[in-house]
Amino acid sequence: MATLSPVTPNIDPLVARMQGFGTTVFAEMTALAVRTGAINLGQGFPDTDGPAKLLETAAEAIMNGANQYPPGPGLPELREAVAAQRAERYGLAYDPTGEVLVTVGATEAIAAAILSLVETGEEVVVFEPYYDSYAAIIALAGGVRRPVTLRPDAGRFTFDPAELRAAVTPRTRVLLLNSPHNPTGTVFTREELEVVAEVCREHDLVAVTDEVYEYLTYDDAPGGAHVPLATLPGMRERTVAISSAGKTFSVTGWKVGWITAPPRFVRAVQTVKQFLTFTASAPYQRAVAYALREEQEWVDGLRVSLRAKRDRLSDGLTAAGLTTFRPQGTYFAQADVRSLGFGDGRAFVGALHERAGIVAIPTQVFYDSGAGDPYVRFAFCKRDEVIDEAVERLRRL
Ligand code: PMP
Ligand code: GLN
Repeated sequence: MATLSPVTPNIDPLVARMQGFGTTVFAEMTALAVRTGAINLGQGFPDTDGPAKLLETAAEAIMNGANQYPPGPGLPELREAVAAQRAERYGLAYDPTGEVLVTVGATEAIAAAILSLVETGEEVVVFEPYYDSYAAIIALAGGVRRPVTLRPDAGRFTFDPAELRAAVTPRTRVLLLNSPHNPTGTVFTREELEVVAEVCREHDLVAVTDEVYEYLTYDDAPGGAHVPLATLPGMRERTVAISSAGKTFSVTGWKVGWITAPPRFVRAVQTVKQFLTFTASAPYQRAVAYALREEQEWVDGLRVSLRAKRDRLSDGLTAAGLTTFRPQGTYFAQADVRSLGFGDGRAFVGALHERAGIVAIPTQVFYDSGAGDPYVRFAFCKRDEVIDEAVERLRRL
């Protein structure tokens, strides 16, 4: 007689290489804020909308039939707009046919790039703290991450070139660089990028660059404007550059991203990407193509407004007794909680929620080493009154 299968199959539903990746800290903290009504300075999303005409363009696209699969590489008009943006802003020429690929946000671009480039056991050098999806995707690819720690130096986070060089081994295949950098807010300077480029050239590495905050830089600070790594000598041919519309146009829920790279890299990434999602977001692709060409002024305004918010929050954190790192870019500011007598970011974030009704991100979850234990990240892409209320409540600590 056949035995009945047990009600619960006797399997572990999560593959070994994903064990340890529970719920992301961003989802955890936003759920906590929603559940308790706390002010959410955790997950990085703005609490105001992008430009009206951008939103209208997407709505019109839906009403006018842009609702079926767009081409696998992305809508031609968006690929052309991306190529024009890289050319006009950075002097980087990419052919919209073959050197641009539209993805489901930067997240899919990063995933498809790492999955296409990294063989089992190969190593990826990445600065820590690193964006959470990097660790998960390197693990999914069967790769090994080699973190290089960013440490505070003269008020901003940077790396020791000797440590970067020491992290490279014969098994290193990719250097994954995020600039402007989440969560530290560092915009890497040309001099720093020259070191990175030299390491890539010397060891024949592929650079994958995450540039989603490319517009969000505050030019009074060291670093100034964003410099794409691909603009440095010998780097265009070995760089897979990634960006997306979410931060630039305050539409983080739209998930329209792209890569620009030489044709053989685009072909490789697309080979993976076509089996992850094939394609997505037809109406949003059309709207983002419009915005990249026509909404530069709105983005300039966003940058000015975010710079003021950066100062508003940083001053408030400092006034509350926290050692604060005023970022050169992104919409995150970091604070060292030891100045308020806390030993570690998790403990501080717990007390912050309990006593002040504010949610923030303990940066230690983005480190392999313990170097991030004292840091907490606050998002300032929020309305002024929300920042002011948070600053007021910080006094309760
Ligand atoms: N990289 C970094 C550094 C980020 O902060 C984010 C957060 N949005 C992403 C990638 C993901 O971008 P997207 O929402 O376009 O997938
Ligand atoms: N990029 C956003 C942040 O750093 C979060 C995106 C997400 O929730 N995965 O806060």
